[in-house]
Parts: sequence; C-alpha cells; structure tokens
Amino acid sequence: MVASLANPKVFFQRSLCCVDGGIVGGIHLAGSGILIPFEQLQREAAAAGVKVLTTHDDCGAYKLKHPDDHNPNQGAAEWGRKTADRLGFLHLHFKSVNMDRPAGFHDEVAVYYDGTGWFNRMPGMPKGFVVSRKYFSSAQKDLELCINIALGGHGFGDRFTAKAPFTVVVLPHPTDPILSAAVLRAEAEQIAAKFGGRVRVV
Ligand SMILES: [Zn+2]
Repeated sequence: MVASLANPKVFFQRSLCCVDGGIVGGIHLAGSGILIPFEQLQREAAAAGVKVLTTHDDCGAYKLKHPDDHNPNQGAAEWGRKTADRLGFLHLHFKSVNMDRPAGFHDEVAVYYDGTGWFNRMPGMPKGFVVSRKYFSSAQKDLELCINIALGGHGFGDRFTAKAPFTVVVLPHPTDPILSAAVLRAEAEQIAAKFGGRVRVV
C-alpha cells in the first residue's frame, strides 16, 4: 500500500529507511534492504517491528545495485513499492525536497553506528549517516558503504584527511553486552582501518 507524508498512519508506525544522512526518522539499513536477500530483510525487519518501508531519491545503495538504471529515482520508488507489498508494509518514497541534504551531494561528516536501535540525528548535530547496528546483521558492510560514499566523488571526498578525518560515532546499547561500546568500537575500527587514517572512531 502506498503511503504519503500526509497520512498520519505513517508517523505512528516504525519505518525502515536508508542509512542516507538526508533521511531522518526510522531505523536505518542501506537502501532500506535492497542490498540484502529478501528473506533476510523480511526476518530482520519483522524482528525490528517495522511496518513502513521508505525509499528516497538519489539513493547510493540503489545505484550500487543498479548502476545502469537511467532513472534511479523511479527505480528506487518502484522497488520500494513492490518490496513493501511483498512484506505487507506501507511504502513511502521521499523526494529530494523532503530530504535533509542537498540534491546530488552527500554532506555527511560522520556515521552514527547505533547499538540502541532508537537513534536519529537531531537538528544541530553534525550531518551523518545512521546505521542501525542493533537490528541488522549487514551493519558492518553498511558502515563501509557510508564511508565509501562520504570519501568518494559524491561526498566531501579528499577533504577528509588524517588531520581532518571522517568520524564514526559509536552509540552503545545501555545494557546489552552484545552491543557494548567495546564490541561496537572493535567492529568500527576494523572497517576504519581500511581507510588509511582518514576515518576515526569516537
Ligand atoms: Zn539511500
């Protein structure tokens, strides 16, 4: 079923959204799951209590999956509609004007690597991707994808250096030892190490 921003149902149900820093609100998985097998998406989204699947314009994960699609915004919306139908979820597609970043440019300076499952960036916090590590087993891969986007041609790119690094902010779960600061930090450090000092973990 298609949802719209005017539909109040959307705001009272848990939504699955992309890790993109332009999308705030919901729990965050790259491309809302386009990069993982359907059965895995179904299982993990259900366990997270998701009822709404969102997609958005200018999605890096969608383009990674479909590099030759000449109309990726329409393609992402179409994938979202079909996938939401299969899952029995509502679907909502965000146009660029509804996103909190400039169209065509990634202004994120951080990734929030979230073990709580509830984190969303508030106004005034540094622009950043969000990876909902608590719910998704693909979180480490998603973290690497976010860093690649930020350090690539669509982000600030070479402006991230050892002296001015891109930042991974680890947000541990308050009680669950599986999602402790030590565990999340070790996972983030493993990915950050691939980027030659241009990514720091805090
Ligand atoms: Zn996206």
